[in-house]
Amino acid sequence: MTRVLPDELSGSFATRAIHAGQRPDPMSGAIMTPIYQTSTYVQDAVGENKGYEYARGRNPTREALERNVASLEGGQHGFAFSSGTGCLDSIMKLFQSGDHIVCGENVYGGTFRLFDKLLTRFGLRFTYVDSRDLQKVADAMTPETRGVVIETPTNPLMRLTDIAGCAGIAHRHDAILIVDNTFTTPYFQRPLEYGADIVWHSTTKYLNGHSDMIGGLAVLNDDVLAERLQFILNAAGAVPGPFDAWLVLRGTKTLHLRMRQHDANGRAMAAWLADRVGEDRVYYPGLASHPQHDLAKRQMSGFGGMISVDLGTRERAVQVLNRVRVFSLAESLGGVESLISHPASMTHASVEASRRDSIGLSDGLIRLSCGVEDEGDLIGDIEQAMG
Ligand SMILES: *Cc1c(COP(=O)(O)O)cnc(C)c1O
Repeated sequence: MTRVLPDELSGSFATRAIHAGQRPDPMSGAIMTPIYQTSTYVQDAVGENKGYEYARGRNPTREALERNVASLEGGQHGFAFSSGTGCLDSIMKLFQSGDHIVCGENVYGGTFRLFDKLLTRFGLRFTYVDSRDLQKVADAMTPETRGVVIETPTNPLMRLTDIAGCAGIAHRHDAILIVDNTFTTPYFQRPLEYGADIVWHSTTKYLNGHSDMIGGLAVLNDDVLAERLQFILNAAGAVPGPFDAWLVLRGTKTLHLRMRQHDANGRAMAAWLADRVGEDRVYYPGLASHPQHDLAKRQMSGFGGMISVDLGTRERAVQVLNRVRVFSLAESLGGVESLISHPASMTHASVEASRRDSIGLSDGLIRLSCGVEDEGDLIGDIEQAMG
């Protein structure tokens, strides 16, 4: 179980991003954490080892990453996984058959698929609610509810949920609050500070930031919960390889720099789009016209580079997607390069059309992940693609 050292929780974000969890290699003094590419560790004698026995349980490269991200989220314990989805699957193993979970209705498509297609077969029960409305979350709670799962802002409609409000509801019912913080990252939003019990990421996205690996990571404070998650991590085994862990660790060193630029580009693009197609068609929490802009300002310190735009029809959306030159047509988000996608046929294709309609995810919707290229080039690209 990786616990953050007390001194790794103080100091500014930028300094912790670069240093937390890392110290020069004791053997050589190498400033960069080595990639401990090993499956096992030689023991000094029977029953005597250096704390490492087999790499599914512990790996020093992975531990450096776990301490680093735990520090950035302001939590005591970090757990790295082989994907964001694998991370959530392991978190959900904290529950047992018969438990009831209240989940935001507009979560990542793969989160819904995991719950609806797999975990219901193991006796977990889910109720999906529009978690923008805390009353709906409270009304869905039952005596069997043990967890509340939210994502804020949501993908792709950029709807927000009041984290502190949800934590209060969950805790009154003896349930834990689990927050997907992939979109905002700890640079702009730290759910544990608002009472969340577990915050998790697809590190594939902003934390790594370079679109060259798949991974997940969970951070929490409670020692008992952390011990149970460590057991699951080792027993179920969805661990990342050391090289992937090292890539994320390299990524987090520039998280603050990248997020500032994603945010600047996101704000500029959102303002330009609002001007071009009308602010009611642009979904970006940083716009004053966003219906939850006040909540955004309260629990986020920046808004990042994710924007969705409703272009009205599928034909219009497809036209823009096929014409972009700087943006690349691809799933995923959070890398230094800008990506554009069509949620209805890409990330949310696993969500049935009727369900997509009911949550407002239309065929004309496109999603932009603004990278860190030149702001003028990005806006110019969308302008030429719109024709
Ligand atoms: C990508 C993503 C996930 C899933 O993570 P993987 O690393 O692809 O398994 C979960 N939540 C959000 C918000 C995501 O964007």
